[in-house]
Amino acid sequence: NKFEQLGLNESLLKAILDLGFENPSDVQEKAIPLLLEKDTDMVALAQTGTGKTAAFGFPLIQKIDADNRNTQALVLSPTRELCLQITNELKNYSKYEKGINVVAVYGGASITEQAREIKRGAQIIVATPGRMQDMINRGLVNIKNIDYCVLDEADEMLNMGFYDDICSILSDTPDEKSTWLFSATMPQEVARIAKQFMSEPVEITV
Ligand code: AMP
Repeated sequence: NKFEQLGLNESLLKAILDLGFENPSDVQEKAIPLLLEKDTDMVALAQTGTGKTAAFGFPLIQKIDADNRNTQALVLSPTRELCLQITNELKNYSKYEKGINVVAVYGGASITEQAREIKRGAQIIVATPGRMQDMINRGLVNIKNIDYCVLDEADEMLNMGFYDDICSILSDTPDEKSTWLFSATMPQEVARIAKQFMSEPVEITV
């Protein structure tokens, strides 16, 4: 099992066994050791279906401090469906890691209930940009101390008109965090986000 050679801990390897993943995909093999090794920014050119959720999800779960209840990571994704899918996957990955809470934040559902879930302690928030911005405006969430920010399907988010929301949300996070950007294509707007908010990102292509 080549997952054992990527530097993942026992509880993740156990969860991977349950998932039935036999070997890391290309993007996982490239991204996981880099992200585990040091806190670096990363730009990954990867399509959906390549296993990119686990490529950022495994390192994220391993790096989160389960004993600290504060929000440590924000994952932004374009749609409610993807947001729920990522949340579900991160919950599966962290099933043997006690105390990690993953909360989904998206439009079209009760903001009060989502705020209540966050208040109970959400180390990882997976959000769509519009609802996330709304929650920040209302003072319902604090991302001022996060260590990790993942921009998933960045080109899709920008296609959907979330440029301003993304800039505003990222401006609300600390400079010292690590940012991992995943995108199937690299149009100018994505490059602009990377240039503005990331520092010397490692680049991988699959
Ligand atoms: P994603 O690109 O993250 O949307 O993943 C696409 C699909 O591939 C999902 O259903 C994953 O559960 C599955 N998957 C991800 N990584 C692996 C792997 N290493 N081996 C087998 N299936 C995987």
